[in-house]
Amino acid sequence: MSSARSSALSPGERLGLGSDWDYALHLPLHYLDETRISAIASLRDGVPAVVQARIVHAEASAGGRKQLRIQVQDASGVLNLRFFHFYQNWQRQYAPGKLLRVRGEPRAGLFGMEMVHPTCHAVRPDEPLPERLTPVYPTAAGISQVWLRKAITGARARLEVREWLPADLLDRLQLPDIASTLDVLHAPPPDAPLHSLEDRSHPGWQRVKFDELLAQQLAQQRARLARSALRAWSLPARAGPQSLGQRLLQALPFALTLDQEACAAEIASNLALSQPMHRLLQGDVGSGKTVVAALAAAQAIDCGFQCALMAPTDILATQHLRKLADWLEPLGVRVAWLSGAQSRRERDTAVQAAASGAAQLVVGTHAVIQEKVRFHRLGLAIVDEQHRFGVAQRLSLRAKGLDDAPRSEANEAVREPHLLMMSATPIPRTLAMAVFGDLDVSTIAHLPPGRSPIRTRVFDAARRDAVIARVRALVAAGRQVYWVCPLVEESAARPSPMAPVRRSSTDRRKVPFVQTGGEALDLRNAEATHAELQVALGTDAERVGLLHGRMPASQKTQVMADFAAGRLRLLVATTVIEVGVDVPAATLMVIEHAERFGLSQLHQLRGRVGRGADASECLLLFTPPLSEMARARLLAIRDTNDGFALAQKDLDLRGPGELLGQRQSGVQMLRHADLHTDVALLEAARDAAVWLLRHDPLAAREHLQRWLGDRLDWLAA
Ligand code: ADP
Ligand code: MG
Repeated sequence: MSSARSSALSPGERLGLGSDWDYALHLPLHYLDETRISAIASLRDGVPAVVQARIVHAEASAGGRKQLRIQVQDASGVLNLRFFHFYQNWQRQYAPGKLLRVRGEPRAGLFGMEMVHPTCHAVRPDEPLPERLTPVYPTAAGISQVWLRKAITGARARLEVREWLPADLLDRLQLPDIASTLDVLHAPPPDAPLHSLEDRSHPGWQRVKFDELLAQQLAQQRARLARSALRAWSLPARAGPQSLGQRLLQALPFALTLDQEACAAEIASNLALSQPMHRLLQGDVGSGKTVVAALAAAQAIDCGFQCALMAPTDILATQHLRKLADWLEPLGVRVAWLSGAQSRRERDTAVQAAASGAAQLVVGTHAVIQEKVRFHRLGLAIVDEQHRFGVAQRLSLRAKGLDDAPRSEANEAVREPHLLMMSATPIPRTLAMAVFGDLDVSTIAHLPPGRSPIRTRVFDAARRDAVIARVRALVAAGRQVYWVCPLVEESAARPSPMAPVRRSSTDRRKVPFVQTGGEALDLRNAEATHAELQVALGTDAERVGLLHGRMPASQKTQVMADFAAGRLRLLVATTVIEVGVDVPAATLMVIEHAERFGLSQLHQLRGRVGRGADASECLLLFTPPLSEMARARLLAIRDTNDGFALAQKDLDLRGPGELLGQRQSGVQMLRHADLHTDVALLEAARDAAVWLLRHDPLAAREHLQRWLGDRLDWLAA
């Protein structure tokens, strides 16, 4: 939305409020007690209060800082009011003798009690006091509480607040009905438990959170039902040793783990259906998702269809290409490569091959979903590190199958490709349920055998020299090492208008990380470290490589290839190696300024080692002082290798938003509920959603409408 347009928005639109229900569900942050009047003599420093008193004196000061002073008096004493922002006509309006009702926070000043910028209005002596606490709503600049209160009261008066949820459900969950919930939250009686209202533990708040979660779960269940009406090509697994999948398995140097087999079987049976698969394959870094994806691709290709695989970075896409081509090309599969970085001619050739069907497998970065790319017969789309892509990009890949789908009969329904998403960022169960409730999930829970666990140690950066000595010794012994350079902190970064804005996936909220100029500095930092380590490694200097985000893709690929082949032994890198690189011979990872990384990022980085049979180590260097959070993270990462346990820990430390790409999380749809604290409500909401859709579709529809209204379409995507 452009700023020019947003200035034309109504106050309601600016707050995202449209329907009467939107207003009714716009709930107070806290409350003011205006139900009692305090005597001026009883005011206490810093304790907000309402007084009712007559104006004795009003005067706008001339010279110096402009201000309006009004003195008021009741039977017990005198109070000074001060305004630094005021209109000229206030002076006339607040003439001596007028009776004012004033609310504010009294301060003991030089000349007795005073209130700065209280809210006040003239009243008649017999003007009644409010009987309810006064709500204070979340608002935006320029939208007054008075306007909001009026709008909300108006909307609530127009609404027919029907209870759609079954009484026994509410009883069981000990939740109040919706009408009394809205009453108590918008207009609590003076004796209401303010504390539980404001910390949102009050039963009314529980009800609201439950309703919100229920709406979200209903939307997801509905999306799931809607999808079951979509059609896809049935791609059943061929039986027998001559099938592509079987031949691939035979050619592999290892046997699948039980987890991999189970996941592959789940995917295989989905592919055989004529409804599109919509499945997330999750597994810790190094758990072996790629081969499971390759088997799925083989099944689609075996049925005469194409498969597209998309990865978020060039490095990662290149790795997939190399691995999949190694596995599948010897079996006769034609593989094409699509990347934004390739030459025009290469690209045109690949686009051609996708369109003609000559390429059976198309691997690439987001170039795969660009407009010009068409497929002849796309049966399966695979998205690696799916959380790096937005909803729109995923949908676009899915839609690729639609355009040119062959239709053997005139009345044949449009078919979608099956969709397999992969993620190495394990999502805790509650979060998966909240965000991907409409997704099937396959999990590789255990790493392939023969991996020795990574030993993680934490060092004060003061011992950096000892760490370098260790690196030197390992390299001399023929081992391979990653050295990850730190993100640069914002305070150190000089903004550069040329540098692309980079959002680090770490701890964005708590610690200010570089947004601008950081990449340039990260780079300088990495180059300096590279030079330093070359010197430190003496005769092995030419075996020290450098990899950073600013390098052209072809150069990155070359460096990675040199490292993979062992020509480079020590790879100094910025966090570009974060996802998916696979060099089993690397056994040591050093991470500088580890305190600046988020937990899941540390885990991802560490997952680059420990991929072979040799014992691996991860050394985390930190620079004191450590924040509490940073300390907790470093201890957590030191003490566990289990990505799922760490993800849960991360959720505990940071809350859900950070764990997922914000764009697609759906978590932002939650205004009131908190996935971190409201797990029990979430589970209850999921069960209730299933029940309602089956037994009371009308209630389900009304509930959705109430909560989501127009946003429903968006969610169904
Ligand atoms: P990720 O799940 O992180 O994408 P990869 O698919 O890259 O993991 O696999 C990590 C490494 O483990 C690769 O070198 C892969 O060939 C190897 N691998 C995968 N499955 C097995 C297995 N069942 N036994 C032994 N090694 C395996
Ligand atoms: Mg991978």
